[in-house]
Amino acid sequence: MPRSTQKTAAPSRSGMTAAEPAEIQRLVEDLDGMLSRLRLGAIREQLDGLLEEAARRQLNLREALAWLCAAEVASKEQRRLSMAMTIAHFPFVRTLEGFEFEAQPSIDPGKIRDLGTCRWVANGDNVVLLGPPGVGKTHLEVALGREAVARGYTAQFTTAMELIGALVKAQQQGTLEMRLAQYAKPKLLIIDELGYLPLEPAAGHLFFQLISRRYEQGSVLISSNRPVEEWDEVFGDQVVAAAILDRLLHHSHVVTIRGDSYRLREKRRSGLFRPQAGGSSSAGIGGVPPPIPAEEA
Ligand code: ADP
Ligand code: MG
Repeated sequence: MPRSTQKTAAPSRSGMTAAEPAEIQRLVEDLDGMLSRLRLGAIREQLDGLLEEAARRQLNLREALAWLCAAEVASKEQRRLSMAMTIAHFPFVRTLEGFEFEAQPSIDPGKIRDLGTCRWVANGDNVVLLGPPGVGKTHLEVALGREAVARGYTAQFTTAMELIGALVKAQQQGTLEMRLAQYAKPKLLIIDELGYLPLEPAAGHLFFQLISRRYEQGSVLISSNRPVEEWDEVFGDQVVAAAILDRLLHHSHVVTIRGDSYRLREKRRSGLFRPQAGGSSSAGIGGVPPPIPAEEA
């Protein structure tokens, strides 16, 4: 074989081959396959449109490459986000933007927006939301959970009953260790509606095992309609309750919502319900907990 023909395939200093037009043509035919192999699905699917647009904008090669990469990055981020949202199991979509702070004057908007930055998740701190039914606890849990997911943290939403039911069942089946590991895994575990039903002491102890497993590892965002002073009753055991609170409150932000149910607000406005005596900070619908000072431990 003459030397000159071998030369075409000789790698250049950049590692690329100095290809002839025919060779380039072959590469173009193989482009789809190469993009698949590199898992650049967005570029592969939108290639014609992206290239046309790049030509229309008269992008140079480097600009065009950056632009194609940006399309791929955006698509991958979108997929990650939608996957992480699915895994998180939020019961519905709620956002911080959709939260009317005027409707709940006992909440400091600055504090919630600060929580929205998710620094507490980065630090492995906990957030405890306390307040009567309908004041927006689940709304805020979902909204803060979505913020965390959007920032790349893993999150999982569950109710206290679902969580404890799963732990009790796992214990009966001899798979407790696996379950605890599963609930310990997400960076943020959201536990909704603690306190609606009192727990058996054995269930309280399982809950303690979970909290201590997550302690100083990942964040817990928990909501309850009962003030922490009543958690003895919730957990059915004073010692277990104290141990849970000790760990939960160690690095925590406690947000206490005192106010009327948002759900009943419209009905109340239309005259279906009489306003609560004493205004929004009084005891009201569904047994409002007594005031607990908002604190940052
Ligand atoms: P809780 O969990 O405290 O019982 P929810 O978060 O379930 O209350 O709130 C009940 C309904 O009212 C939800 O649909 C929620 O989105 C809405 N809601 C509550 N508070 C507000 C608020 N301040 N602004 C907007 N929507 C609210
Ligand atoms: Mg709720």
